[in-house]
Amino acid sequence: MKKQKELKLNPFQLNVLLNEEEKQDFQFLLENGVYCNNCKAVCPKGVVDYTASLDDLNDIRIEGHCAACGHKVVRIMELGEDRSFFEKVMEFRQSIQN
Ligand SMILES: [Zn+2]
Repeated sequence: MKKQKELKLNPFQLNVLLNEEEKQDFQFLLENGVYCNNCKAVCPKGVVDYTASLDDLNDIRIEGHCAACGHKVVRIMELGEDRSFFEKVMEFRQSIQN
């Protein structure tokens, strides 16, 4: 499969792409699943000022800041292997290509 272009997602687009379960997972990651190199722990207060993008494998890449210390944090939410998500994403990519 050829590599996909990296694509920034606005909150509306993210909302369209994720199903209910995935939205919960996403929220859970923001609160309990992103490691901060500065705190040497999972961000104790979660992640703020984040952006989400689709990476070249159709996973969701979350970039933000640790709410406790402000350090930059990154986390990949692996969804590219999920068939229904993958199909949704390919349709989405097609729809915004022009
Ligand atoms: Zn931190």
